[in-house]
Amino acid sequence: MTVRVRFAPSPTGMFHVGGARSALQNWIFAKQQGGVFVLRIEDTDAARNRPEWTEGILSALDWIGIARGSYEGPYFQSSYAGEHRAAAQRLYEGGRAYYCDCTREDVQARTGPQQRGYDGFCRDRGLEPGEGRALRFRTPDEGETVVVDLVRGEPTFENKLIEDFVIARGDGSPVFLLANVVDDMSMGITHVIRAEEHLPNTPKQQLLWDALGVKPPVWAHVPVVVNEKRQKLSKRRDKVALEAYRDEGYLADAMRNYLMLLGWAPSGDREIVPWSVIEEEFRLDEVNPSPAFFDEKKLRAFNGDYIRALPVADFVEACRPWLTGTGTIAPPPWQPDEFDPAAFAAVAPLAQTRIAVLSEIVPNVDFLFLADPLIDEAAWAKAMKEGAADLLDAAIAAFEALESWDAESLKATLEAVGAERGLKLGKAQAPVRVAVTGRTVGLPLFESLEVLGRDRTLTRLRAARVRLV
Ligand code: GLU
Repeated sequence: MTVRVRFAPSPTGMFHVGGARSALQNWIFAKQQGGVFVLRIEDTDAARNRPEWTEGILSALDWIGIARGSYEGPYFQSSYAGEHRAAAQRLYEGGRAYYCDCTREDVQARTGPQQRGYDGFCRDRGLEPGEGRALRFRTPDEGETVVVDLVRGEPTFENKLIEDFVIARGDGSPVFLLANVVDDMSMGITHVIRAEEHLPNTPKQQLLWDALGVKPPVWAHVPVVVNEKRQKLSKRRDKVALEAYRDEGYLADAMRNYLMLLGWAPSGDREIVPWSVIEEEFRLDEVNPSPAFFDEKKLRAFNGDYIRALPVADFVEACRPWLTGTGTIAPPPWQPDEFDPAAFAAVAPLAQTRIAVLSEIVPNVDFLFLADPLIDEAAWAKAMKEGAADLLDAAIAAFEALESWDAESLKATLEAVGAERGLKLGKAQAPVRVAVTGRTVGLPLFESLEVLGRDRTLTRLRAARVRLV
């Protein structure tokens, strides 16, 4: 039997990193089993769905390596409403479901506010279908439902504790639980790999599979993703959108490597591993069922390692969207015609070792492309203390006299200027750096001055000197 898995996101918001993790696990599992990965967009919640969220999911999947055209779908759940209704009808006709006209208040009046769930009042009333009547599944009174789960063993649920749950609302529309099962069934899904949040639905869904006469899939409920406070990652509180990480300059390879470590680790004492190793070694039954900590600091460090490992030419290429501002990435502060690719190529190797996410390239190199540096006033106040004017005067004079404008000569020159004033190089550099780049930290100063060139460097030093008068 061919393994068929699906990833079934609801397009109701930005694409969640936890969702991306489940998608990758499905993807790898399908590949390992020689199976098929199906993408199904669960767009039945018309009030919350938006087409741009669907597009966001497709493009984010593409970005982490689940490329459009290389999977089956996307299918849209809303196209199968007829099948969902037909299944509800079959369950009703087979006596597996019944109509119910109880309101929540009715139920509470009978059971008291403490008891949760439906009390089965309409089970044997034989109500006909009708406006405002919900269809409820008749759960078995006895026995238990054993969920075969590759991550969690065999979670077992007592049937008598499962309420007669609604499968179609009063207006006849089937609910998510049923639509999701019917689609999995008609798409021939053999393994449902999804987040732990859905585990409480699973016994109900498995009862639906049984009642519809089809063998249920094998389940795998992968761990919930939590923040440093052990709270489930939430889009209101935490940075959860895969797109946000992409636009900040995380590399797709770093991101997917990191996502796969949420609840699983490759062999040996290593975490940064080529994707081919992950594809080979990943095992669903090795996934740890406990909540997985999404550690943004660690991801950042990971990304820095991935950036440093790039060949310089690839790094230059990878930075391009932030240097030019493309798609959803904000444009840089300089004009397109101010950008100088040769100057960028000259400093790229210096920047590559210093940034952890690609968007950080912009503040590191903006001094090269802007007519005037963006002066950080706090940095200015810190660097331009007593003696700064005198130091700048001396540096300007010494730089003007330089025969060769190269990093080494610039350094020796400023070192000498500093020494004459009893200043170590670090102290002597500070006013020069702020005058030229606007900041107290950045790329190595003398290489930066070399690339910026004599005229522009001297112009900026003189401008700073004027400001100090
Ligand atoms: N549409 C559901 C969700 O986004 C997924 C349900 C499932 O994977 O079975 O949470």
